[in-house]
Amino acid sequence: MLKTYQSCKKKYFLHYVRNIIMPQSATIFEQGKNIHALAGYYLDGINVEKFEKALNEKEKDIWIKLKNNEYFNFSPIKTEFTLNFRLDKFWFGGRLDAIMKKNEEYYILDYKTGNPPDNAEYDYQTMIYITALSKYLKNNSNINFVYIDLKHNKSILIKATPNLIQEYESKLLNVAKEINTLSENNLPQNRNCICEYAKICF
Ligand code: SF4
Repeated sequence: MLKTYQSCKKKYFLHYVRNIIMPQSATIFEQGKNIHALAGYYLDGINVEKFEKALNEKEKDIWIKLKNNEYFNFSPIKTEFTLNFRLDKFWFGGRLDAIMKKNEEYYILDYKTGNPPDNAEYDYQTMIYITALSKYLKNNSNINFVYIDLKHNKSILIKATPNLIQEYESKLLNVAKEINTLSENNLPQNRNCICEYAKICF
């Protein structure tokens, strides 16, 4: 939701305030969905041989990259884990792909079959997930976030510090307050752009 808000306030308003859902091509999500499901089963200790055989060639390639990833081989603590937290009167939440542990350090994993965010350290997903886990663990000094970039076969590691988490909380609170004031009258006008909402964009 926050990514939509960041990309276009109008789109956010139409989607999440007016509740207008526009159809999108499902194919771009399918591949990611299969890999996420398989990863969850695998880390939960389920025998995934049958699922592996059902993967297409592209999915197999991605799956092998994930299985060989350093962070994916740490000890799993939770998979597909939903966490929520409150700042002031605003609720934030998300579903973490996996939480792993090694040497008293926690690692939130996020599998990306598409491109990872440009500014990973300050991406809303990073900020929300790290803050959520720090509140859940009541600890803010041994949490890391890892984007596993399966497209380029590399990992982006963000190490959280108490100061960084404090900065995240302040940024999240600010954006929530800003969204709370959003109305039809203060949306940006005349943007020369196109998206799935273009036909109803006023
Ligand atoms: S067409 Fe442009 S301004 Fe309108 S909702 Fe889409 S991105 Fe936003």
